[in-house]
Amino acid sequence: MDDEFPDPPGPTTPGEIYAVLHAHYGDLEWWPAPGPFQVMVGAVLTQRTAWRNVEMAMERLEGAGIDGVDPLMALPVEELEALIRSSGTYRQKARRLRDLFAMVQGTSDGSLETFLARPRDRMRSDLLSVNGIGPETADSIILYAAKQPVFVVDAYTRRVLGRIGIETGPSYDHVAAWFTRGIEEDVGIYNNYHAAMVELAKGYCRKEPRCDGCPLCSMCPTGREASRGQ
Ligand code: SF4
Repeated sequence: MDDEFPDPPGPTTPGEIYAVLHAHYGDLEWWPAPGPFQVMVGAVLTQRTAWRNVEMAMERLEGAGIDGVDPLMALPVEELEALIRSSGTYRQKARRLRDLFAMVQGTSDGSLETFLARPRDRMRSDLLSVNGIGPETADSIILYAAKQPVFVVDAYTRRVLGRIGIETGPSYDHVAAWFTRGIEEDVGIYNNYHAAMVELAKGYCRKEPRCDGCPLCSMCPTGREASRGQ
């Protein structure tokens, strides 16, 4: 991947950003779910909706005893749709969940443990073969359910990078390649890094940035500009 994506010009490095974020947020220990099945369901349900809507759907699934591949696949699709309604586009997401776990059944006899222990690249291509599973959802599952090291890129990550003035190239893989350069390939680091970017974007680097107190302010031209204007 290094040769494919040469070093872009940039005012700071992925390691410097991580060091600052980790000093500020510490270990965030994502994903907020009791086990890999719930991580996978949450990764699909969180597409294009706020996490609080996902939490409501997850609580209803738990209340209905849907805690694994078999119960989910045995549930009539209309009942699945009703349980996840709060997550928005629920018909589409119900289909996606069924397609995802049908793929797990097809590749790994329905055993999540077997599926998540497969080699990372094989797992990723199988996840991406499911309709509606893109790189962000696939990598969230690989990192937070399978606990294999891969960097997750989302819209928050792109927003922060753009404001810091780092140009990586437009594709998902370009952004991921920039973040993984010079950083140890480590599940704990990738886990914290993505979680901290999300926290930063929710707390400071919002649609309208609140740069005052942002831990990245000293390395961010947008933040410095905002400070000068105060
Ligand atoms: S200083 Fe402002 S623009 Fe820069 S990362 Fe922080 S919140 Fe975003």
